[in-house]
Amino acid sequence: MLKISTRLDTLEESVTLAITAKAKALKAGGRDILGLGAGEPDFDTPENIKEAAIEAIRKGYTKYTPVGGIVELKDAIIEKFKRDNGLHYDRADVIVSCGGKHSIYNLFQALLNPGDEVIIPGPYWVSYPAIVTLSGGTPVIVSTTVATGFKMTPEAFATAITPQTKAVIINSPSNPTGAAYTKAELAALAALALKNGLLIITDDIYEKLVYDGFEFTSIASISDEIMCSSVVLNGVSKAYSMTGWRIGYAAGPRELISAMTKIQSQSTSNPASISQWAAVEALNGPQDSISSMTKEFVKRRDIMVDGLNAIEGVKCPVPSGAFYVFPDVSGLYGRNGITGSVSLSAYLLDTAGVAVVPGSAFGDDNSLRLSYATSLDTIVDAIERIAKAVK
Ligand SMILES: *Cc1c(COP(=O)(O)O)cnc(C)c1O
Repeated sequence: MLKISTRLDTLEESVTLAITAKAKALKAGGRDILGLGAGEPDFDTPENIKEAAIEAIRKGYTKYTPVGGIVELKDAIIEKFKRDNGLHYDRADVIVSCGGKHSIYNLFQALLNPGDEVIIPGPYWVSYPAIVTLSGGTPVIVSTTVATGFKMTPEAFATAITPQTKAVIINSPSNPTGAAYTKAELAALAALALKNGLLIITDDIYEKLVYDGFEFTSIASISDEIMCSSVVLNGVSKAYSMTGWRIGYAAGPRELISAMTKIQSQSTSNPASISQWAAVEALNGPQDSISSMTKEFVKRRDIMVDGLNAIEGVKCPVPSGAFYVFPDVSGLYGRNGITGSVSLSAYLLDTAGVAVVPGSAFGDDNSLRLSYATSLDTIVDAIERIAKAVK
């Protein structure tokens, strides 16, 4: 028998896999399945961005590029940070990777030694603890609840810090909860991080998807001192509907970016040259596709939240950003053989033909994650079906 590395022993298999596989199988078998599991915008990549990619192919930009990205893209990223976040970086402070997830992977590979702890507020994006573990570190989850708007309080943060703590992850707006931190909330967390000499890792991938006039702040932008202790992660996947293009980026302390680039040089090399040119256009070109997208998202969000809150046993907070809702559904447990978020998800798939992601995948068994990156019709239909199924 082939023996797989022991590194995989501690790597948890995603709970979402079972549901996704089942949804696919049911669909293939002819069942009418409504998918609310999507982790990507359903809009097409804007035309000007596609054209830039086609142009890049025509111009023959189809060869290896510098490992950490072409200077045109680094400069577009530097300009974006200046324009949107008031952050000032040089080219050596920036790396372009094959998606934001890849930047995070490079980061933890470059940062962690065995025993190093990384504080992750929960509910969390599934890949954070997985990548920390794969990189030899120890994820320390600080669970939050709807009572604090799914946001980590300074008190909870302080309690989790040990001499082994090396870094803390902030993801605002959050996947899966859609919770977004205010500047004051971030400042309080940053003060604690600085006091304890921690690296702040801020995943700003949903920065553009905020609603109801919420003002996004990158924690790194609060002061120069905080910026020096922060790595900012971002990418074009969510803001420009470019998930398949695989372009993400990070900016932060030069020695860390350089170490990340070294790892990238011995693994993937440069991100796809054509995608890099598309990302240059995404960042430098017209930005109006973002506002049309957020307008549509907010409409869908409101219908989904209202529909869910009308179901007895479901409590759905209104998220400030991203394209997910994260309702507390524990009021439904104990009926219809439902014992938790995994069995509720399976039940909804079986009886209602609606695919959702169990909250346990994100460290919260009381909840479900439903994505509104799908059509209004699908949302209305899905909510109706869910309401009927859990009656
Ligand atoms: C989607 C997502 C990313 C990055 O996705 P890529 O497609 O790899 O750029 C990063 N963090 C969170 C929380 C996400 O939801």
